[in-house]
Amino acid sequence: MSSTVSSSIDLNAEGKATGYLIIGDSTNNSGWATFNVPIIKVKNGVGPTVLVLAGNHGDEYEGQFAAATLAHELKASDVHGRIIIIPCLSQEASKAGTRHWPTGVNFNRTFPGNENGAVSDKLAHYLTNELFPMSDAVMDIHSGGRGMYFIPCSHMVWAKDKKQRAKMFASMLAWNTSHHLIFPEQPGTNPASLLAGEAERQGKTLFTTELGGAGVATFETTQLAKDGLQNALRMSGVIDGAPKSRVELGLSAPIFVDMRGPHAYHSATHTGLYENIIGLGKAVKKGEVIGLIHEMDHPDTPAVKIFAEQDGVVGVMRGFPRVTPGDVVAVIGKPYASTDAMPENI
Ligand SMILES: [Zn+2]
Repeated sequence: MSSTVSSSIDLNAEGKATGYLIIGDSTNNSGWATFNVPIIKVKNGVGPTVLVLAGNHGDEYEGQFAAATLAHELKASDVHGRIIIIPCLSQEASKAGTRHWPTGVNFNRTFPGNENGAVSDKLAHYLTNELFPMSDAVMDIHSGGRGMYFIPCSHMVWAKDKKQRAKMFASMLAWNTSHHLIFPEQPGTNPASLLAGEAERQGKTLFTTELGGAGVATFETTQLAKDGLQNALRMSGVIDGAPKSRVELGLSAPIFVDMRGPHAYHSATHTGLYENIIGLGKAVKKGEVIGLIHEMDHPDTPAVKIFAEQDGVVGVMRGFPRVTPGDVVAVIGKPYASTDAMPENI
């Protein structure tokens, strides 16, 4: 239970309703304020509950478009069970065009949340303790953010538990992207602080994506978000129709890129403007130049070269070019035609 967040609509009632999560807030201008996060619920009879979440990071827009469109178009008669949609979790960040909230908070590091914390903490606590427990599946639609550009993909973190891994694998395939990236736990991050980490801990079927990046949404990546969301909802059994695979849609079989190697992540070594030399999805050899850091104040200074530290495929490249040492500029993984061929441990 949350004593600081409530819903203006009854999430258990039949039919479609739109309203707000009402979060207790107190600002210098308004001591007894509420912070309101739009929420849409569509319920029709018996079936699974699917939670559709976008805008976890403010500058990732494809999911926000797809979730908002779903919220506009979905009718109660389309649904078997319940779909709950929050088109933008981090509204203040989205309005500012930034990854983080204006308070500096990365919403995707606030889980499991705190009902007596900041607004972002209260919202995370409500998701953890109210919305996740009532859901069978959780969709967390990301798209890279300003600093990075991913091969538009659905992805997963390699789970040690084989049953859990198979479940995540099936969800990953549902989005029908050309590539699927397999990541290790994020370096320097407590996995329990992530939205997806908390949903997974609660045993929910999890759908996660990175549908592009660099703080922009293209027509193609937005369409991918909408199509993938529909197919994932069909796979969840909450709307009519059989899910279709890429092959059934006449598309090429997907490529799986394993990002778990110790040399997958490449970081900037200097301050400057980073130029991508190798495109997304392209093969590289160890030692090949993948990027250049230009020191723009001194044109006589040669650009610093960034070299591939392993053979593989560029799964993530730099988005926003301004870098300082430690910024990730590329992630290179090994491509596979099937996850069965991937090593258990790296
Ligand atoms: Zn994100």
